[in-house]
Amino acid sequence: MPDPAKKHPQNAPGPWYVDLNCISCDTCTDISPEIFGRDAERKAYVKEHRPEEASLFVFAVESCPVEAVGGE
Ligand code: SF4
Repeated sequence: MPDPAKKHPQNAPGPWYVDLNCISCDTCTDISPEIFGRDAERKAYVKEHRPEEASLFVFAVESCPVEAVGGE
């Protein structure tokens, strides 16, 4: 489970987020470069909520090796 107290500050407002435990593995940004962005340190954050692509978001949640991706 990602930690809602450690949300990346660049997450777009909304229910989906990435926390600061991200280890910059690029998995989620490869799954959906539309939903996820990378900051200057290549840490991921939710760039855009795309409810029509929720299945890709769920795939990213399940694929993140450090469980840094989730929703409220
Ligand atoms: S899958 Fe997880 S660890 Fe990898 S870039 Fe995305 S948030 Fe970071």
